[in-house]
Amino acid sequence: MRELLFIPGPVTVSERVLGAMNRPLIDHRGPEFSELVERIYAGLRPLFGTQEAEIVLLGSSGTGGLEAAIANAFSPGDALLAAPMGVFGERMIAIARTYGMTVDAIEPRPGFAVDPNELARRLSADADHRYRGILLTHNETSTGVQSDMAELAAIVQAHGALTIVDSVSGLGATDFRMDEWGYDIVVGASQKVIAAPPGVAMLAVSPRAWDAIETSKTPRFYFDLLKAREFARQGQMPWTSPVSAMFALDAALEQYRREGAPAIHARLATYAEAIRAAFSALGLEVFSQPGAHSVTVVTAKVPAGVDAAGLLRGLRANRGVTLAGGQLDLKGKIVRMGTMGDISQTDVLAAIQAIEIALLDYDVPVQIGAAGKAALRVFLDLGGAIPGGEQKSSVQMDAQTTGTSR
Ligand SMILES: *Cc1c(COP(=O)(O)O)cnc(C)c1O
Repeated sequence: MRELLFIPGPVTVSERVLGAMNRPLIDHRGPEFSELVERIYAGLRPLFGTQEAEIVLLGSSGTGGLEAAIANAFSPGDALLAAPMGVFGERMIAIARTYGMTVDAIEPRPGFAVDPNELARRLSADADHRYRGILLTHNETSTGVQSDMAELAAIVQAHGALTIVDSVSGLGATDFRMDEWGYDIVVGASQKVIAAPPGVAMLAVSPRAWDAIETSKTPRFYFDLLKAREFARQGQMPWTSPVSAMFALDAALEQYRREGAPAIHARLATYAEAIRAAFSALGLEVFSQPGAHSVTVVTAKVPAGVDAAGLLRGLRANRGVTLAGGQLDLKGKIVRMGTMGDISQTDVLAAIQAIEIALLDYDVPVQIGAAGKAALRVFLDLGGAIPGGEQKSSVQMDAQTTGTSR
């Protein structure tokens, strides 16, 4: 059975990118490796939207990148303001507290993006600039919520604190303009939109952030960004590089460049919209709020009478379709379906049909064919598509009036 990964990272990686790993290793201190690293920097710059920032690659998953950013930019005792939207925003807070920073957090409303007015209020109340740093999430993978990073940029710039952005599941998915928006450290990882295997975290660090890093008193060793920069400038990494993962990352970025950012942004947005339409047609209420829908992961509530874990287990075991469940508080309450990776429209349609079939095992009303039709209407541009992701009533009407109820 062919396995399709619809979890929000790691994702289904193309044969070409997988094939890039199938070659002999090279010297990670040699000239060929430096050229590879330089190509990777060049491939990443447009995704971050930066010419000014220095890019550093780390041999780790995304969390290591976040830890490196926070530990290096701040010092124990520094006050930070965080605007979490879910599990990953909370993780940044936990990292900062681990390193002795004090963090105030804006209370998240699950499924909603950060309230810009609340962020502005909290920052303007900080007239004496107690906050040294701000922690933001571009795309919150646990709730399927995406922030408007241009809008938030204006607010944090007015305050001036160093801002770290977790863009691990956002980098490459939407237009991002680090230089223009004035963000200081933006963190990504290889296994999400870029669709390479896990193993490489990437940080873009502004000149202002480097100044802060040079004065940070936080103890660090493996994730010392000054050491990482020293090596990065020679096209190296401080410790043994994940060479095979770097081959794959290089190939994935080449594939990204060839497809082109506009086409990729549109592909992800269309998949997400199609999946939302299909979920609604299946009676799964979309969890993220209108205006805040992520393009890389779609979240939906599991209807009463459906055991989320059982549903996901059956999909994986019987149909080769792997989705993710909810994390922490949302465990058992939502399902999450990623749009990232080497996934075709046909794969999305197949997965939606698999979910429909799996739901037939439960005592919930399912209109046969409605979900696939709702998704297809989005793909065929038959009037399902409104930017921001609302679906036209025609889709809902079709879902209610056509198809055979079981
Ligand atoms: C995947 C992800 C991370 C990092 O997770 P790792 O498992 O360490 O790669 C961090 N933040 C967000 C928003 C993510 O989606």
